[in-house]
Amino acid sequence: MSVAQSTANPGLSPAALDAAWETVIGLEVHVQLRTTTKMFCRCENRFGAEPNELVCPVCLGYPGTLPVTNQHAVDLAIRLALALGCEVRPRSVFARKNYFYPDLPKGYQISQYDEPLAEGGSVPLPSGGNVRLHRIHLEEDAGKLLHEVPGGGPLPGRSLVDFNRCGVPLVEIVTEPEIRSPEDAQAYLQTLHQVLLYTGASDGNMEEGSLRCDANLSLRPAGSDTLGTKTEVKNLNSFRHVAKALEYERERQLHILAAGARVEQETRSFEPASGATRSLRSKEEAHDYRYFPEPDLSALVLTEGRIERQAEVLPELPWAKSARFRDSYGLRAEEAALLSGSVALATYYERAVAAHPAGARSIANWVMTEILRELKERKIHPRFRRFPRFRQGSDSTGSPGGHRRPGRLRRVVDHGRQGRAERSLGLGRDARPDRRPSRATPGARRRSTRGLGRRRDRGQRQGRRRVPRRPQAGPRLPGRAGHEGVPR
Ligand SMILES: [Zn+2]
Repeated sequence: MSVAQSTANPGLSPAALDAAWETVIGLEVHVQLRTTTKMFCRCENRFGAEPNELVCPVCLGYPGTLPVTNQHAVDLAIRLALALGCEVRPRSVFARKNYFYPDLPKGYQISQYDEPLAEGGSVPLPSGGNVRLHRIHLEEDAGKLLHEVPGGGPLPGRSLVDFNRCGVPLVEIVTEPEIRSPEDAQAYLQTLHQVLLYTGASDGNMEEGSLRCDANLSLRPAGSDTLGTKTEVKNLNSFRHVAKALEYERERQLHILAAGARVEQETRSFEPASGATRSLRSKEEAHDYRYFPEPDLSALVLTEGRIERQAEVLPELPWAKSARFRDSYGLRAEEAALLSGSVALATYYERAVAAHPAGARSIANWVMTEILRELKERKIHPRFRRFPRFRQGSDSTGSPGGHRRPGRLRRVVDHGRQGRAERSLGLGRDARPDRRPSRATPGARRRSTRGLGRRRDRGQRQGRRRVPRRPQAGPRLPGRAGHEGVPR
Protein backbone atom coordinates (compact mmCIF):
# COMPACT_ATOMS: atom_id res chain seq x y z
CA MET A 1 0.00 0.00 0.00
CA SER A 2 1.44 3.37 -0.97
CA VAL A 3 1.51 6.27 1.42
CA ALA A 4 -1.25 8.01 -0.50
CA GLN A 5 -3.54 5.01 -0.26
CA SER A 6 -3.21 4.96 3.49
CA THR A 7 -4.45 8.51 3.95
CA ALA A 8 -7.30 9.50 6.18
CA ASN A 9 -9.12 10.68 3.10
CA PRO A 10 -10.70 7.50 1.79
CA GLY A 11 -12.98 9.44 -0.54
CA LEU A 12 -10.16 10.12 -3.00
CA SER A 13 -8.22 7.49 -4.92
CA PRO A 14 -4.46 7.96 -5.34
CA ALA A 15 -5.06 9.02 -8.94
CA ALA A 16 -7.63 11.61 -7.86
CA LEU A 17 -5.25 12.88 -5.17
CA ASP A 18 -2.52 13.19 -7.78
CA ALA A 19 -4.86 15.16 -10.00
CA ALA A 20 -5.95 17.43 -7.17
CA TRP A 21 -2.42 18.47 -6.22
CA GLU A 22 0.21 19.88 -8.53
CA THR A 23 3.89 19.01 -7.96
CA VAL A 24 6.42 21.86 -7.99
CA ILE A 25 10.10 20.96 -8.01
CA GLY A 26 13.18 23.19 -7.98
CA LEU A 27 16.74 21.90 -8.10
CA GLU A 28 20.00 23.37 -6.82
CA VAL A 29 22.97 21.59 -8.33
CA HIS A 30 26.51 21.99 -7.02
CA VAL A 31 29.16 21.27 -9.61
CA GLN A 32 32.88 21.02 -8.88
CA LEU A 33 34.84 22.82 -11.57
CA ARG A 34 37.66 21.05 -13.36
CA THR A 35 40.60 23.16 -12.25
CA THR A 36 44.10 22.28 -11.16
CA THR A 37 43.93 24.30 -7.96
CA LYS A 38 41.30 25.40 -5.47
CA MET A 39 39.09 28.47 -5.69
CA PHE A 40 41.00 30.86 -3.44
CA CYS A 41 44.37 29.21 -2.74
CA ARG A 42 46.98 27.19 -4.62
CA CYS A 43 46.22 23.81 -3.05
CA GLU A 44 45.63 21.07 -5.60
CA ASN A 45 42.03 20.32 -6.57
CA ARG A 46 42.21 16.56 -6.72
CA PHE A 47 40.04 13.69 -5.50
CA GLY A 48 41.48 10.70 -3.70
CA ALA A 49 44.42 12.20 -1.79
CA GLU A 50 45.14 11.16 1.79
CA PRO A 51 42.88 13.02 4.24
CA ASN A 52 44.06 16.57 4.98
CA GLU A 53 46.93 16.32 2.52
CA LEU A 54 45.72 19.13 0.24
CA VAL A 55 45.38 22.00 2.68
CA CYS A 56 47.04 25.32 3.51
CA PRO A 57 46.45 28.23 5.89
CA VAL A 58 44.05 29.86 3.39
CA CYS A 59 41.65 26.94 2.96
CA LEU A 60 41.99 26.01 6.64
CA GLY A 61 40.77 29.48 7.53
CA TYR A 62 43.77 30.65 9.54
CA PRO A 63 43.49 34.25 10.72
CA GLY A 64 45.37 36.77 8.60
CA THR A 65 45.25 34.82 5.33
CA LEU A 66 43.72 36.31 2.22
CA PRO A 67 41.89 34.64 -0.67
CA VAL A 68 42.96 35.08 -4.31
CA THR A 69 40.41 34.18 -6.98
CA ASN A 70 41.22 31.30 -9.34
CA GLN A 71 40.73 32.93 -12.75
CA HIS A 72 40.41 29.63 -14.58
CA ALA A 73 37.49 28.65 -12.34
CA VAL A 74 35.83 31.92 -13.30
CA ASP A 75 36.38 31.20 -17.00
CA LEU A 76 34.91 27.70 -16.70
CA ALA A 77 31.88 29.09 -14.88
CA ILE A 78 31.41 31.70 -17.63
CA ARG A 79 31.65 28.99 -20.29
CA LEU A 80 29.09 26.84 -18.52
CA ALA A 81 26.74 29.79 -18.03
CA LEU A 82 26.95 30.63 -21.74
CA ALA A 83 26.32 27.00 -22.72
CA LEU A 84 23.13 27.11 -20.64
CA GLY A 85 21.99 30.34 -22.29
CA CYS A 86 22.45 32.49 -19.18
CA GLU A 87 23.11 36.20 -19.14
CA VAL A 88 26.60 36.63 -17.67
CA ARG A 89 26.74 39.76 -15.52
CA PRO A 90 29.66 42.09 -16.21
CA ARG A 91 29.96 42.62 -12.47
CA SER A 92 29.26 40.12 -9.70
CA VAL A 93 30.15 40.14 -6.03
CA PHE A 94 31.49 37.50 -3.66
CA ALA A 95 29.69 37.31 -0.32
CA ARG A 96 30.24 35.60 2.99
CA LYS A 97 27.64 33.04 3.96
CA ASN A 98 28.04 32.61 7.69
CA TYR A 99 27.31 29.35 9.45
CA PHE A 100 29.03 27.04 11.85
CA TYR A 101 29.71 23.44 10.92
CA PRO A 102 32.69 21.18 11.68
CA ASP A 103 33.63 20.84 8.00
CA LEU A 104 33.88 24.62 7.57
CA PRO A 105 36.92 25.85 9.52
CA LYS A 106 36.49 29.52 8.55
CA GLY A 107 32.98 29.67 9.96
CA TYR A 108 31.77 31.08 6.65
CA GLN A 109 31.69 30.07 3.01
CA ILE A 110 32.65 32.45 0.22
CA SER A 111 29.72 32.43 -2.17
CA GLN A 112 27.71 34.94 -4.18
CA TYR A 113 24.40 36.32 -3.04
CA ASP A 114 22.50 39.25 -4.50
CA GLU A 115 24.86 39.81 -7.45
CA PRO A 116 25.55 36.35 -8.88
CA LEU A 117 27.74 35.51 -11.87
CA ALA A 118 24.87 34.79 -14.25
CA GLU A 119 21.08 34.77 -14.46
CA GLY A 120 18.38 33.26 -16.68
CA GLY A 121 19.04 30.53 -19.22
CA SER A 122 17.36 27.18 -19.75
CA VAL A 123 17.98 23.50 -20.35
CA PRO A 124 15.93 21.71 -23.02
CA LEU A 125 14.52 18.32 -22.02
CA PRO A 126 14.48 15.34 -24.40
CA SER A 127 10.70 15.18 -23.94
CA GLY A 128 10.40 18.60 -25.58
CA GLY A 129 9.97 20.82 -22.53
CA ASN A 130 12.41 23.30 -21.05
CA VAL A 131 13.68 23.91 -17.55
CA ARG A 132 14.32 27.60 -16.95
CA LEU A 133 17.26 28.56 -14.79
CA HIS A 134 17.13 31.20 -12.10
CA ARG A 135 20.83 31.83 -11.56
CA ILE A 136 24.37 30.44 -11.55
CA HIS A 137 26.88 31.54 -8.95
CA LEU A 138 30.43 30.73 -7.91
CA GLU A 139 31.41 29.52 -4.46
CA GLU A 140 33.80 27.26 -2.58
CA ASP A 141 33.14 23.74 -1.33
CA ALA A 142 33.26 22.70 2.33
CA GLY A 143 35.22 19.77 3.80
CA LYS A 144 33.86 16.32 4.43
CA LEU A 145 32.91 14.55 7.64
CA LEU A 146 33.78 10.88 7.93
CA HIS A 147 31.66 8.71 10.18
CA GLU A 148 33.74 5.60 9.57
CA VAL A 149 37.45 4.93 9.80
CA PRO A 150 38.99 5.56 6.35
CA GLY A 151 39.10 2.18 4.66
CA GLY A 152 36.17 0.89 6.72
CA GLY A 153 35.35 0.17 10.30
CA PRO A 154 33.02 1.75 12.86
CA LEU A 155 33.80 4.94 14.73
CA PRO A 156 31.19 4.97 17.48
CA GLY A 157 30.36 8.35 18.91
CA ARG A 158 32.99 10.18 16.88
CA SER A 159 33.47 11.74 13.46
CA LEU A 160 36.60 12.64 11.54
CA VAL A 161 36.98 15.60 9.25
CA ASP A 162 38.86 15.76 5.95
CA PHE A 163 39.51 19.33 4.77
CA ASN A 164 40.85 18.38 1.31
CA ARG A 165 37.58 19.46 -0.29
CA CYS A 166 37.57 22.83 1.51
CA GLY A 167 37.86 25.57 -1.08
CA VAL A 168 37.31 23.41 -4.17
CA PRO A 169 35.65 25.66 -6.79
CA LEU A 170 31.93 25.13 -7.24
CA VAL A 171 29.18 26.57 -9.32
CA GLU A 172 25.66 26.35 -8.00
CA ILE A 173 23.01 26.13 -10.70
CA VAL A 174 19.50 26.97 -9.49
CA THR A 175 16.38 26.24 -11.53
CA GLU A 176 13.11 28.10 -11.38
CA PRO A 177 10.60 26.15 -9.28
CA GLU A 178 8.67 24.79 -12.22
CA ILE A 179 9.71 21.20 -12.81
CA ARG A 180 6.54 19.14 -12.70
CA SER A 181 7.69 15.57 -12.08
CA PRO A 182 10.55 13.49 -10.67
CA GLU A 183 11.08 12.11 -14.20
CA ASP A 184 11.61 15.61 -15.60
CA ALA A 185 13.96 16.39 -12.71
CA GLN A 186 16.03 13.35 -13.61
CA ALA A 187 16.03 14.21 -17.32
CA TYR A 188 17.15 17.77 -16.51
CA LEU A 189 20.06 16.48 -14.44
CA GLN A 190 21.13 14.04 -17.12
CA THR A 191 21.13 16.78 -19.76
CA LEU A 192 23.00 19.14 -17.43
CA HIS A 193 25.55 16.39 -16.80
CA GLN A 194 26.09 16.07 -20.56
CA VAL A 195 26.69 19.82 -20.82
CA LEU A 196 29.32 19.65 -18.06
CA LEU A 197 31.23 17.01 -20.00
CA TYR A 198 30.72 18.64 -23.39
CA THR A 199 32.08 21.98 -22.16
CA GLY A 200 34.82 20.46 -19.99
CA ALA A 201 33.65 22.62 -17.08
CA SER A 202 33.60 19.61 -14.75
CA ASP A 203 34.56 15.95 -14.82
CA GLY A 204 30.95 15.26 -13.78
CA ASN A 205 32.05 12.31 -11.68
CA MET A 206 29.09 11.73 -9.41
CA GLU A 207 30.73 8.93 -7.43
CA GLU A 208 33.42 11.41 -6.41
CA GLY A 209 30.91 14.13 -5.58
CA SER A 210 31.58 16.39 -8.57
CA LEU A 211 27.83 16.85 -9.05
CA ARG A 212 25.49 16.99 -6.05
CA CYS A 213 21.88 17.99 -6.02
CA ASP A 214 19.55 19.53 -3.43
CA ALA A 215 15.95 18.98 -4.49
CA ASN A 216 13.01 21.12 -3.32
CA LEU A 217 9.47 19.87 -3.64
CA SER A 218 6.13 21.33 -2.73
CA LEU A 219 2.53 20.63 -3.65
CA ARG A 220 -0.26 23.10 -4.33
CA PRO A 221 -3.92 22.70 -5.29
CA ALA A 222 -4.12 22.16 -9.05
CA GLY A 223 -4.61 25.50 -10.78
CA SER A 224 -3.24 27.58 -7.90
CA ASP A 225 -0.53 30.19 -8.51
CA THR A 226 0.74 30.21 -4.94
CA LEU A 227 3.62 27.95 -4.00
CA GLY A 228 3.02 25.49 -1.19
CA THR A 229 5.41 24.85 1.69
CA LYS A 230 8.52 23.09 0.38
CA THR A 231 10.89 20.58 1.82
CA GLU A 232 14.46 20.19 0.63
CA VAL A 233 16.28 16.87 0.24
CA LYS A 234 20.03 17.50 0.52
CA ASN A 235 23.08 16.02 -1.11
CA LEU A 236 21.71 13.60 -3.67
CA ASN A 237 24.52 12.24 -5.78
CA SER A 238 22.86 9.99 -8.32
CA PHE A 239 20.17 10.57 -10.94
CA ARG A 240 18.17 7.66 -9.61
CA HIS A 241 18.36 8.89 -6.02
CA VAL A 242 17.02 12.27 -7.07
CA ALA A 243 14.02 10.69 -8.79
CA LYS A 244 13.38 8.28 -5.90
CA ALA A 245 13.73 10.92 -3.19
CA LEU A 246 11.31 13.21 -5.05
CA GLU A 247 8.80 10.41 -5.57
CA TYR A 248 8.92 9.61 -1.87
CA GLU A 249 8.56 13.27 -0.89
CA ARG A 250 5.61 13.75 -3.22
CA GLU A 251 3.81 10.78 -1.71
CA ARG A 252 4.66 11.86 1.82
CA GLN A 253 3.38 15.40 1.32
CA LEU A 254 0.28 14.16 -0.47
CA HIS A 255 -0.44 12.01 2.56
CA ILE A 256 -0.05 14.96 4.94
CA LEU A 257 -2.14 17.35 2.84
CA ALA A 258 -4.88 14.83 2.16
CA ALA A 259 -5.20 14.32 5.91
CA GLY A 260 -5.77 18.06 6.29
CA ALA A 261 -2.43 18.67 8.02
CA ARG A 262 0.36 21.09 7.09
CA VAL A 263 3.75 20.32 5.58
CA GLU A 264 6.64 21.57 7.72
CA GLN A 265 9.39 23.51 5.95
CA GLU A 266 12.51 21.49 6.64
CA THR A 267 15.68 19.97 5.28
CA ARG A 268 15.64 16.21 4.81
CA SER A 269 18.10 13.49 3.83
CA PHE A 270 17.57 10.51 1.55
CA GLU A 271 18.35 6.97 2.64
CA PRO A 272 19.02 4.84 -0.43
CA ALA A 273 18.52 1.53 1.37
CA SER A 274 14.91 2.26 2.35
CA GLY A 275 14.12 4.77 -0.40
CA ALA A 276 12.77 7.10 2.32
CA THR A 277 13.65 10.65 3.34
CA ARG A 278 14.00 11.70 6.95
CA SER A 279 14.05 15.04 8.69
CA LEU A 280 17.45 16.61 9.37
CA ARG A 281 16.59 20.09 10.60
CA SER A 282 14.20 22.92 10.09
CA LYS A 283 15.10 24.81 6.94
CA GLU A 284 17.27 27.89 7.24
CA GLU A 285 16.16 31.13 5.67
CA ALA A 286 18.60 33.40 3.83
CA HIS A 287 18.68 35.80 6.81
CA ASP A 288 19.98 32.98 9.02
CA TYR A 289 23.23 33.14 7.06
CA ARG A 290 23.84 36.87 7.60
CA TYR A 291 25.23 37.34 4.11
CA PHE A 292 27.49 40.32 3.55
CA PRO A 293 29.95 41.26 0.78
CA GLU A 294 33.32 39.48 1.15
CA PRO A 295 35.66 42.24 2.35
CA ASP A 296 38.83 40.45 1.18
CA LEU A 297 37.81 40.25 -2.50
CA SER A 298 36.95 43.01 -4.90
CA ALA A 299 33.94 42.71 -7.20
CA LEU A 300 34.37 40.25 -10.07
CA VAL A 301 34.42 42.48 -13.15
CA LEU A 302 34.31 40.73 -16.52
CA THR A 303 35.19 42.44 -19.75
CA GLU A 304 33.20 41.75 -22.89
CA GLY A 305 36.31 40.27 -24.47
CA ARG A 306 36.72 37.75 -21.66
CA ILE A 307 33.13 36.56 -21.97
CA GLU A 308 33.49 36.49 -25.76
CA ARG A 309 36.57 34.25 -25.52
CA GLN A 310 34.54 31.65 -23.65
CA ALA A 311 31.72 31.92 -26.18
CA GLU A 312 34.25 31.16 -28.92
CA VAL A 313 35.37 27.87 -27.38
CA LEU A 314 31.84 26.57 -26.75
CA PRO A 315 31.40 23.22 -28.47
CA GLU A 316 28.28 22.10 -30.30
CA LEU A 317 25.94 21.32 -27.40
CA PRO A 318 24.23 17.96 -26.88
CA TRP A 319 20.76 19.02 -28.02
CA ALA A 320 22.15 20.68 -31.16
CA LYS A 321 24.28 17.64 -31.96
CA SER A 322 21.31 15.38 -31.43
CA ALA A 323 19.16 17.44 -33.81
CA ARG A 324 21.93 17.42 -36.41
CA PHE A 325 22.34 13.65 -36.16
CA ARG A 326 18.60 13.29 -36.70
CA ASP A 327 18.56 15.56 -39.72
CA SER A 328 21.88 14.63 -41.34
CA TYR A 329 21.93 10.90 -40.79
CA GLY A 330 18.22 10.09 -40.80
CA LEU A 331 18.23 8.77 -37.24
CA ARG A 332 15.21 8.59 -34.97
CA ALA A 333 15.13 11.08 -32.09
CA GLU A 334 15.99 8.50 -29.44
CA GLU A 335 18.85 7.10 -31.55
CA ALA A 336 20.28 10.57 -32.12
CA ALA A 337 20.00 11.30 -28.39
CA LEU A 338 21.80 8.08 -27.52
CA LEU A 339 24.65 8.61 -29.98
CA SER A 340 25.15 12.22 -28.92
CA GLY A 341 25.09 11.22 -25.25
CA SER A 342 28.81 11.85 -24.93
CA VAL A 343 31.33 13.67 -27.06
CA ALA A 344 33.49 10.57 -27.27
CA LEU A 345 30.66 8.35 -28.51
CA ALA A 346 29.40 10.98 -30.96
CA THR A 347 32.89 11.53 -32.34
CA TYR A 348 33.42 7.81 -32.67
CA TYR A 349 30.21 7.53 -34.66
CA GLU A 350 30.89 10.54 -36.86
CA ARG A 351 34.40 9.45 -37.73
CA ALA A 352 33.10 6.09 -38.81
CA VAL A 353 30.39 7.76 -40.91
CA ALA A 354 32.93 10.17 -42.41
CA ALA A 355 34.85 7.18 -43.71
CA HIS A 356 31.68 5.48 -45.01
CA PRO A 357 29.11 8.18 -45.75
CA ALA A 358 26.61 5.71 -47.18
CA GLY A 359 26.66 3.62 -44.03
CA ALA A 360 25.31 6.14 -41.50
CA ARG A 361 22.31 3.97 -40.72
CA SER A 362 24.18 0.64 -40.42
CA ILE A 363 26.97 2.19 -38.41
CA ALA A 364 24.43 3.74 -36.01
CA ASN A 365 22.82 0.33 -35.44
CA TRP A 366 26.16 -1.22 -34.96
CA VAL A 367 27.47 1.35 -32.48
CA MET A 368 24.23 1.21 -30.50
CA THR A 369 24.29 -2.56 -30.22
CA GLU A 370 27.74 -4.08 -30.58
CA ILE A 371 29.88 -1.23 -29.35
CA LEU A 372 27.71 -0.13 -26.44
CA ARG A 373 27.29 -3.72 -25.33
CA GLU A 374 31.03 -4.22 -25.45
CA LEU A 375 31.61 -1.09 -23.39
CA LYS A 376 28.99 -2.17 -20.90
CA GLU A 377 30.54 -5.59 -20.47
CA ARG A 378 33.88 -3.98 -19.82
CA LYS A 379 32.32 -1.38 -17.53
CA ILE A 380 33.73 1.44 -19.64
CA HIS A 381 31.50 4.48 -19.50
CA PRO A 382 31.16 6.07 -22.94
CA ARG A 383 32.31 9.47 -21.83
CA PHE A 384 35.44 11.53 -21.70
CA ARG A 385 38.76 9.86 -21.14
CA ARG A 386 37.49 6.33 -20.73
CA PHE A 387 36.08 5.58 -24.13
CA PRO A 388 38.39 3.72 -26.53
CA ARG A 389 39.31 6.10 -29.28
CA PHE A 390 40.42 5.74 -32.81
CA ARG A 391 44.07 6.31 -33.26
CA GLN A 392 44.57 9.25 -35.56
CA GLY A 393 45.45 8.11 -39.05
CA SER A 394 48.86 8.73 -40.55
CA ASP A 395 47.12 10.64 -43.31
CA SER A 396 46.43 13.33 -40.71
CA THR A 397 42.81 13.56 -41.78
CA GLY A 398 41.65 12.13 -38.51
CA SER A 399 39.80 9.35 -40.27
CA PRO A 400 39.47 6.27 -38.14
CA GLY A 401 42.55 4.16 -38.21
CA GLY A 402 44.16 6.11 -41.01
CA HIS A 403 44.18 4.34 -44.34
CA ARG A 404 43.81 0.83 -43.05
CA ARG A 405 40.72 0.27 -40.97
CA PRO A 406 38.06 1.91 -43.15
CA GLY A 407 38.46 -0.98 -45.56
CA ARG A 408 37.69 -3.50 -42.88
CA LEU A 409 34.87 -1.36 -41.63
CA ARG A 410 33.28 -1.27 -45.07
CA ARG A 411 33.27 -5.04 -45.24
CA VAL A 412 31.55 -5.29 -41.92
CA VAL A 413 29.02 -2.59 -42.68
CA ASP A 414 28.27 -3.89 -46.13
CA HIS A 415 28.03 -7.52 -45.24
CA GLY A 416 26.84 -7.29 -41.68
CA ARG A 417 29.76 -9.32 -40.38
CA GLN A 418 29.21 -8.08 -36.90
CA GLY A 419 31.41 -10.66 -35.32
CA ARG A 420 34.36 -8.66 -36.51
CA ALA A 421 32.92 -5.40 -35.28
CA GLU A 422 35.36 -5.03 -32.48
CA ARG A 423 38.50 -5.24 -34.53
CA SER A 424 37.17 -3.30 -37.45
CA LEU A 425 36.01 -0.37 -35.37
CA GLY A 426 39.32 -0.14 -33.68
CA LEU A 427 38.46 -1.92 -30.48
CA GLY A 428 41.26 -4.38 -31.02
CA ARG A 429 44.95 -3.77 -30.79
CA ASP A 430 44.75 -0.20 -32.03
CA ALA A 431 42.22 0.93 -29.48
CA ARG A 432 43.46 3.20 -26.75
CA PRO A 433 41.41 2.43 -23.69
CA ASP A 434 42.24 4.97 -21.06
CA ARG A 435 42.37 2.42 -18.29
CA ARG A 436 45.19 1.59 -16.02
CA PRO A 437 45.94 -2.05 -16.75
CA SER A 438 46.91 -2.65 -13.14
CA ARG A 439 43.35 -1.94 -12.10
CA ALA A 440 41.84 -4.57 -14.38
CA THR A 441 39.72 -7.16 -12.66
CA PRO A 442 40.66 -10.80 -13.15
CA GLY A 443 37.66 -11.10 -15.47
CA ALA A 444 38.78 -8.13 -17.52
CA ARG A 445 42.30 -9.54 -17.73
CA ARG A 446 40.94 -12.84 -18.96
CA ARG A 447 38.80 -11.09 -21.55
CA SER A 448 41.69 -8.90 -22.61
CA THR A 449 43.33 -11.90 -24.21
CA ARG A 450 40.46 -12.00 -26.65
CA GLY A 451 39.79 -8.46 -27.72
CA LEU A 452 40.17 -4.98 -26.36
CA GLY A 453 43.57 -4.39 -24.90
CA ARG A 454 45.05 -7.59 -26.21
CA ARG A 455 48.42 -5.95 -26.26
CA ARG A 456 49.84 -3.41 -23.98
CA ASP A 457 50.40 -0.88 -26.70
CA ARG A 458 51.50 2.70 -26.60
CA GLY A 459 47.95 3.86 -25.92
CA GLN A 460 47.64 1.77 -22.83
CA ARG A 461 50.90 3.00 -21.47
CA GLN A 462 49.60 6.50 -22.01
CA GLY A 463 46.54 5.48 -20.04
CA ARG A 464 48.78 5.12 -17.01
CA ARG A 465 49.52 8.79 -16.84
CA ARG A 466 48.45 10.26 -13.56
CA VAL A 467 47.44 13.59 -14.99
CA PRO A 468 44.06 13.30 -16.73
CA ARG A 469 44.45 13.75 -20.42
CA ARG A 470 42.65 16.62 -22.04
CA PRO A 471 39.57 15.39 -23.84
CA GLN A 472 40.62 14.65 -27.38
CA ALA A 473 37.20 14.50 -28.89
CA GLY A 474 35.38 17.64 -29.92
CA PRO A 475 36.82 21.09 -30.19
CA ARG A 476 40.03 21.92 -28.44
CA LEU A 477 39.28 23.60 -25.16
CA PRO A 478 41.57 25.54 -22.91
CA GLY A 479 43.20 23.13 -20.49
CA ARG A 480 43.24 23.17 -16.75
CA ALA A 481 45.13 26.07 -15.35
CA GLY A 482 45.72 27.56 -12.01
CA HIS A 483 45.84 30.99 -10.56
CA GLU A 484 46.95 34.06 -12.33
CA GLY A 485 47.72 35.68 -9.03
CA VAL A 486 49.75 34.46 -6.10
CA PRO A 487 48.21 34.26 -2.65
CA ARG A 488 49.65 36.91 -0.46
ZN1 LIG B 1 44.65 25.75 0.41
